[in-house]
Amino acid sequence: MIERTLVILKPATLVRGLAGEVISKFEKKGLKLVAMKMARLTPEILSQHYAHLVDRPFYPLLVESMTAAPVILSCWEGVDAVTVVREMTGATNGRKAAPGTIRGMYCMSGQENIIHTSDSPENAVIELDRFFVVSDYCPWDSPLARSINSPDEL
Ligand code: UDP
Ligand code: MG
Repeated sequence: MIERTLVILKPATLVRGLAGEVISKFEKKGLKLVAMKMARLTPEILSQHYAHLVDRPFYPLLVESMTAAPVILSCWEGVDAVTVVREMTGATNGRKAAPGTIRGMYCMSGQENIIHTSDSPENAVIELDRFFVVSDYCPWDSPLARSINSPDEL
């Protein structure tokens, strides 16, 4: 099924000059970029986005990290996009993430782990609605779509 998922390039990704490299991985995979914008996240929106973590001892450091510089918010579309992107992301701790995953390639930390990606189709819908409005989306038909998927996969 064609799905949409949220990818947030975290502040350290921008600071380290890795944004283009990470975006390129998703492009080359064959996912379709349908929305993208920069933003400075606030503690308020982070308390929604990371509601499952607000009581954890590391939460203040997480907020500090996520507000230290702008982020790049993006929405990627494709067949099973949520699972595909999550698998490409790798384990939360970059030191344990499999080689070849984005976290496995580009980070050494459990907190400074380069990207956020939605962990289920249900959460992808909630998260995309949190960060994007309808007019942020630019749906488009790729002339290469037949080279990305067979029609019977769609
Ligand atoms: N995090 C952290 N320490 C932990 C667990 C999580 O600093 O022990 C941070 C880390 O940046 C992670 C984010 O909180 O990406 C969200 O945690 P979650 O468990 O949802 O991991 P993710 O879905 O990002 O892999
Ligand atoms: Mg998560």
